[in-house]
Amino acid sequence: MLLAHCYFLSCAGSTWASSALVHAFLQGQSVQCQQLTGVLDDCLCDIESIDDFNTFKIFPKIQKLQERDYFRYYKVNLKRPCPFWADDGHCSIKDCHVEPCPEEAFIDWARYDDSQDHFCELDDERSPDAQYVDLLLNPERYTGYKGPSAWRVWNSIYEENCFKPRSVYRPLNPLAPSRGESFYTWLEGLCLEKRVFYKLISGLHASINLHLCANYLLEETWGKPSWGPNVKEFTRRFDPIETKGEGPRRLKNLYFLYLIELRALSKVAPYFERSVVDLYTGNGHEDAESKALLLEIFRDTKSFHMHFDEKSMFAGDKKGAKSLKEEFRLHFKNISRIMDCVGCDKCRLWGKLQTQGLGTALKILFSEKEIQNLPENSPSKGFQLTRQEIVALVNAFGRLSTSIKELQNFKVLLQRTR
Ligand SMILES: Cc1cc2nc3c(=O)[nH]c(=O)nc-3n(C[C@H](O)[C@H](O)[C@H](O)COP(=O)(O)OP(=O)(O)OC[C@H]3O[C@@H](n4cnc5c(N)ncnc54)[C@H](O)[C@@H]3O)c2cc1C
Repeated sequence: MLLAHCYFLSCAGSTWASSALVHAFLQGQSVQCQQLTGVLDDCLCDIESIDDFNTFKIFPKIQKLQERDYFRYYKVNLKRPCPFWADDGHCSIKDCHVEPCPEEAFIDWARYDDSQDHFCELDDERSPDAQYVDLLLNPERYTGYKGPSAWRVWNSIYEENCFKPRSVYRPLNPLAPSRGESFYTWLEGLCLEKRVFYKLISGLHASINLHLCANYLLEETWGKPSWGPNVKEFTRRFDPIETKGEGPRRLKNLYFLYLIELRALSKVAPYFERSVVDLYTGNGHEDAESKALLLEIFRDTKSFHMHFDEKSMFAGDKKGAKSLKEEFRLHFKNISRIMDCVGCDKCRLWGKLQTQGLGTALKILFSEKEIQNLPENSPSKGFQLTRQEIVALVNAFGRLSTSIKELQNFKVLLQRTR
């Protein structure tokens, strides 16, 4: 099967060797697996290095971190109505429901958080409808949320927020009249920043769909569900032939998103290294351990030598760069609001968390100076992260790390079924 080979080629052709490999591969296949164009092709990343780094360094540690109390409880408002259209979605299985934690358990956390200085918008967190959710008890997996409601959400994210004119259709879009032939010509013609934006969203979309394939409801006997990888579903979504080359492109975007969030983690280390920042849960010993593990992960992220260089973004003339940055921010904010239109609670929970995590990563990447200038022992003026942002950042990256691990597992499963 073509699939197993295609996924694991170089993501960007950073070296002549990998470009040549991909090129030779493409020439030998009727399906176009990778498109090697534009500045991003020069980012120093190859998929094998990311896979190894993720499997051996990041994945085991980030999993451990996600199990710690500070990171497993996420405060979120799942009751905010969709600001764009009347709610029309639902899931096909009962597993979509999210059970919040009792509020009393977190009074102490809220008191602590309130005593901290805040310079950023506390949107969802301050809402009386916001509740703590135990992420370990509500894992992201197949929910059966699909069809026009899900398409509408994805469509509106891409159509209204990816700098795209309406006349350009995305490939294979079930809601569009054309097959999207001109899409990639349009995308390659964009400036780097706008192209990056599209790739991030597409990478997130690929990650969510990969999780639902990896954690699929395989059967239910006597009310007892059995979850596991569904190779058929994975093939339908990512096989180069079945998706006319789109699947591998989307997976490439997943790797790109991983690199962006990895870069953000390596940049935010100085913020957490300061003694004034702790990961408060009320248990001093646990909190110190959580912080030590987080700092260890930061050290690992710094040791990765193929980082995406965000300096090439917003590097044009000062005025243009500033307005582009603002546009970027607003589009991203809008995507967060669209998440309130997701018609399945569990999908909404993880959709919100992962967009907030990515938003936090971008905030970090564009605050390098502020982070470097933070005082060691006084409040974080100039740059600050809330508990919710920190939890979202770590868990969103944890999801990507898991996606990459799951992808490797599918590769093995596909080889076995050959
Ligand atoms: C925010 C959000 C969270 C979700 N979370 C879950 C979940 O936790 N569990 C669950 O079972 N379902 C979830 N869903 C639904 C899931 O993402 C799919 O929408 C659903 O399974 C239907 O899939 P589909 O094959 O029809 O295509 P969709 O994934 O709905 O995609 C619609 C169209 O977008 C294009 N497309 C697909 N992937 C990409 C990509 N990576 N890049 C660019 N374009 C792409 C294709 O043209 C495709 O036909 C979620 C949906 C949303 C909007």
